[in-house]
Amino acid sequence: MTEQEDPSRDRLKHHFAQRVIHQARQVLEVWQRLQRVEWNAQDMAELTEANLRLLRYAERFDQPEHTLLAQNIEQCLQTVSANRGRLNSAVITELNQLMQRLSRTGLRHSDQFDQMALPPLRKPVYMALQDHDRVERLIQQLDFFGLSAQGFEDAVTFRAAMAERHPALIVMEVDFDGPGVGLELAAEAQAGLEHKIPVLFFSHDDTDTPTRLAAVRAGGQEFFTGTIDASSVLEKVELLTRSAHYEPYKVMVVDDSKAQAIHTEMVLNSAGIVTRAITDPVLAMGELADFQPDLIILDMYMPGCVGTELAKVIRQHERYVSVPIIYLSAEDDLDKQLDAMSEGGDDFLTKPIKPRHLIATVRTRAARARSLRARMVRDSLTGLFNHTHTLQLLEDARFRARRFRQPLAFAMIDIDHFKKVNDTYGHPMGDRVIKSLALFLKQRLRKTDHIGRYGGEEFAVVLPDTDAQSAFRVLDEIRKRFAEIRYPAQPGELSCTFSCGIAELRDGMDIKTLSKRADEALYEAKGGGRNRVEVFG
Ligand code: GH3
Ligand code: MG
Ligand code: MG
Repeated sequence: MTEQEDPSRDRLKHHFAQRVIHQARQVLEVWQRLQRVEWNAQDMAELTEANLRLLRYAERFDQPEHTLLAQNIEQCLQTVSANRGRLNSAVITELNQLMQRLSRTGLRHSDQFDQMALPPLRKPVYMALQDHDRVERLIQQLDFFGLSAQGFEDAVTFRAAMAERHPALIVMEVDFDGPGVGLELAAEAQAGLEHKIPVLFFSHDDTDTPTRLAAVRAGGQEFFTGTIDASSVLEKVELLTRSAHYEPYKVMVVDDSKAQAIHTEMVLNSAGIVTRAITDPVLAMGELADFQPDLIILDMYMPGCVGTELAKVIRQHERYVSVPIIYLSAEDDLDKQLDAMSEGGDDFLTKPIKPRHLIATVRTRAARARSLRARMVRDSLTGLFNHTHTLQLLEDARFRARRFRQPLAFAMIDIDHFKKVNDTYGHPMGDRVIKSLALFLKQRLRKTDHIGRYGGEEFAVVLPDTDAQSAFRVLDEIRKRFAEIRYPAQPGELSCTFSCGIAELRDGMDIKTLSKRADEALYEAKGGGRNRVEVFG
């Protein structure tokens, strides 16, 4: 027997890996707490300590990915302490990136460039349903999305699996292995757990309020009756893994006084907010496109440009209509303040302003703007970016591609013969296919790619730092795999294909031409027999 085949050794390795993952969670928890409060020396010390423990465990238990991340985090924290505990935008951004990577270790497929490699398994989903055939089919479906699921014969095998490994999610039928046993099993699984495992309960028939209440107490996040399908499970898993990341707020400071700008930045940085300061208002628009702030702080009076004028210019761009603008000025004349507000400002803070007040104002305004924006830019069926926003993201990507001299690819995707799907299987089934393609794209593209729902059954993907050939490789692989999905349906299994057109940004090209080229390539793919990817030219 070789070492790798020794099951007890595997179990031991698994046990160690779990300890490392548990410690990584501790680090992430301190980090998340830091986002909500004003940062202070004590919290930073706690973060440092938790991370050092992670580093020790990861080294001892031979987990290279965690070791590397913990080392990098440690380096960042040392920079901060060398700077007498002072944070700056670069450190905040880097720490945040490291934390995001940490939160994905062992959970999601990596964001590496080699997208062709199959994603490593994430935590499994446990499915305790009465109908074993149904479970088999669900497992197959989930597998297409890179999610492993496990079914169970009875309560005994379920308990054994729970003792072995905790899943990302449990799908539990209320009456699994006997009336009400499912509820008991779920409650039992959660007992003593600091972090409850999310449970999706399922029942064939409608249920009474006591059952629902018991379900909620047992960690039930959702209750399905009638049928349960793979896309609901997938959606839930997506949601759960997504809530783990947090982006620090980004604030642009426009102030002609360098000293004032630095002061404002320091105050905000101390609260973990990333800043970019510009002292020349003429540069503001370019920087806005590049930095994409959640909020803008404007100095009232600057040579060559009054803050209110700049606010007007900013507001003329549809893109920035909803970005909050806060004026910062020594001005204490109420009339002038009111004037400033009517010119598109959202708030007016008078210098000298208390750091706490500034931080609180920025946090509340930025949070509201973010949640409004999330609703404005997303498509409600798929959660992908809508048409308008996809084009805005394409414009931003073009700006960056030119600035950093990087390639940029744009892809358009259209499901083949989709009308037939609707006609044969009904509109709700069509919707399900649209949703599943959306999820499929989300799972298989990089986090830096932007995916939009362009129209009914049309999608668009912005691929920064990618040339047409690489984009082709990625999308063609996705095309092949998507075509393999079989949806259980009446009257008989359904499978779908899509066609895709890709264009690459050339010198001096605007996004209209770029998207037109992608559209032409798509047209060619359709004409060439569908279920294929074409590159323009
Ligand atoms: P082709 O291969 O040429 O793309 O054929 P097609 O049938 O997919 O093309 P066409 O664009 O003519 O039809 C698209 C259909 O998609 C028409 C419309 O009823 C349907 N559709 C558009 N939006 C939705 C939606 O949100 N849900 C559902 N179920 N169907 C939609
Ligand atoms: Mg179409
Ligand atoms: Mg179509």
